[in-house]
Amino acid sequence: ATPAATMVGSTLGAQNGVLFKGGDVLERAKDVDTVVFDKTGTLTTGEMTLTDVVALEDEGEGARAAADGGDAAADGGAVATRSQLDESEVLRLAASAERDSEHPLAQAIVEGAAERGLDLSAPDSFENVPGQGVRATVDGREVLVGNRRLLEGDGVDPAPAADEMERLEREGKTAMLVAVDGAVAGVVADADTVKESSADAVADLRERGLDVMLITGDNERTARAVAERVGIDPDDVRAGVLPEDKADALEDVQSTGRKAMMVGDGVNDAPALAVAHVGTAIGSGTDVAIEAADVTLMRDDPLDVVKAIRISEATLAKIK
Ligand code: ADP
Ligand code: MG
Repeated sequence: ATPAATMVGSTLGAQNGVLFKGGDVLERAKDVDTVVFDKTGTLTTGEMTLTDVVALEDEGEGARAAADGGDAAADGGAVATRSQLDESEVLRLAASAERDSEHPLAQAIVEGAAERGLDLSAPDSFENVPGQGVRATVDGREVLVGNRRLLEGDGVDPAPAADEMERLEREGKTAMLVAVDGAVAGVVADADTVKESSADAVADLRERGLDVMLITGDNERTARAVAERVGIDPDDVRAGVLPEDKADALEDVQSTGRKAMMVGDGVNDAPALAVAHVGTAIGSGTDVAIEAADVTLMRDDPLDVVKAIRISEATLAKIK
């Protein structure tokens, strides 16, 4: 594009809350034929709410209780055994482990614990495992909060929680395992809301002849539930994808000659944003994502993805 056309496109973009990092980005955006969305924080609000807390009994029998029914007596004197914690203690340990995590899933757990009046402990150690969860030492206990992969990676068998995990995932919730001292102790679940305009954005992109895909670190059941709600074909869902594999998945899509726009918000999306023909970051997302991206959407509106592509087309049309 000529400098003048680039200027027009950039200005038009800025007026519409779409920031292009340079003129060549505008040109690349015009050639995009596939849009790959991240799920959490991109198609959904990412504003998670804690909905369920489950304490597993010794034999793995689910001793389930709705999270809003939990009482606030966890900081009392009872010393729970490692595989027989009550719901309050499962939640208190999970929330303590998640205290320093910026992940929306973590924040919902911490807020849920606060609402239930639980006193959190400061973790002695804390480690974020991208795309899997967190590992922390809380009150001298080894606490894991995350997905099956996280536990398996640490040699902890998630099987005793399998039924509870599936039940919650079928409800479209993100269920997370809580392991304490090497054994699964319970499950916590967060629920998220699909953004109002996600379905419209997918429909608009499709109308323009673009293919639309969903890539997420979340599990298959939850991912498909969201895909169905926004109009993405179940065959175009890639679930359980690790951050580094998100970039590989993008390269896979593009290896057939496709030109993909990846849209994401998280640290975990940054590698994929970098390898995509065009990386687009949600403006409320993390700085790492914004830095890795070519385009930043200042609003959280998925319809601005359509706008970005339209502006690039309009700009290029001007110089032809
Ligand atoms: P997404 O691709 O949907 O943004 P992530 O790649 O960040 O999701 O995470 C993938 C999965 O890893 C989550 O669905 C969750 O099961 C687990 N996970 C990631 N971070 C955390 C965390 N801080 N606490 C608990 N679980 C987590
Ligand atoms: Mg995300």
